[in-house]
Amino acid sequence: MGLIPFDNNPDSLNPLCSVGLTLDPRVHPKDDRTPQQEFDDFLARFPEIAHQFREAKAVRPWVSTGRLQYSAKQVVGERFCLTSHAAGFIDALYSRGLTNTMELVNALGWRLIAASKDGDWSMERFGYLEDLQQGLFDFHDDIVYSSFVGFRDYELWNAVNRTWMLGTMLGNVMLEDAYYRFERTGDDGVFRELEQHGHPGSPLPVSAGFNRMGHLTRELCEAVDQGTENPGEAARKILSYVRDADFIAPSFKFGERDTRCFAMSPAKMAMNARWCRRDAPPEIGPRMINASKGLVRMRLRAGK
Ligand SMILES: Cc1cc2nc3c(=O)[nH]c(=O)nc-3n(C[C@H](O)[C@H](O)[C@H](O)COP(=O)(O)OP(=O)(O)OC[C@H]3O[C@@H](n4cnc5c(N)ncnc54)[C@H](O)[C@@H]3O)c2cc1C
Repeated sequence: MGLIPFDNNPDSLNPLCSVGLTLDPRVHPKDDRTPQQEFDDFLARFPEIAHQFREAKAVRPWVSTGRLQYSAKQVVGERFCLTSHAAGFIDALYSRGLTNTMELVNALGWRLIAASKDGDWSMERFGYLEDLQQGLFDFHDDIVYSSFVGFRDYELWNAVNRTWMLGTMLGNVMLEDAYYRFERTGDDGVFRELEQHGHPGSPLPVSAGFNRMGHLTRELCEAVDQGTENPGEAARKILSYVRDADFIAPSFKFGERDTRCFAMSPAKMAMNARWCRRDAPPEIGPRMINASKGLVRMRLRAGK
């Protein structure tokens, strides 16, 4: 369930709140209840959620729909490019919509500008968008699927959740690093360089270990789904993989069962900086240092 208050800012004018409920139709097949009845029945099963809705009033009738996922077979071709939501949709979970849109715009924008100058509108130039869009869908699809499987067992969910946290954090590192270098040099080539690392659509395309983690998590969740793997054992394997990972500082303890939430602190930043200089692989260390510098500069500027 997703609840999105639109008045989360002093300047907001909209007092409303968006409410979305996603059910796996393989487990909860759609029947002929009205949307209002479906929602009321859901609340009846979860009294603590119902409590939060006791004074809520719907400003428009509930809407219920069928399967949400769709994707186009081809997203770029002669004189067209379907971007983001027009190209496909996976799930509201993890709110990846705007990220996906920005990734696409970043890759499409410079190609359109170059093509309008040199007249080369060929698929050689635009073909990368196909791989990028598919890669973005695949990453989202894997993590959403693994999460829906994970929801059935606390230990598994606790482990799968780490892979999402790592993807979000490290994806930021990748972009913060590029932005930091762009700010210092004014060279917009740093954004095009993001396309050069293989794994289009991955938040951290530079790390083979990170990209393997997503596949491993999905494969283990598939095995749990098919009943050939025990959820607790799958969770143990995911956490063990994260513990041995070379793409995150071990001092963050992401692979420990009880590190359920992660909050950065100056002490952790210092430990991370030491790891980046001494032990991190070359594709990770310098990027993380740049990203941290960029973040600190942004904070200082915001504090002025
Ligand atoms: C309630 C809600 C909460 C969300 N929360 C998040 C979030 O927290 N984080 C996140 O990353 N994503 C979130 N998303 C998803 C995100 O909003 C979308 O993924 C993103 O806006 C898609 O961008 P887009 O440009 O592809 O499509 P859109 O933003 O849908 O833009 C398409 C535009 O095309 C216009 N249009 C349609 N048909 C025509 C036509 N025939 N002629 C001219 N114009 C047309 C539409 O009016 C619209 O302005 C949320 C979505 C919803 C509904």
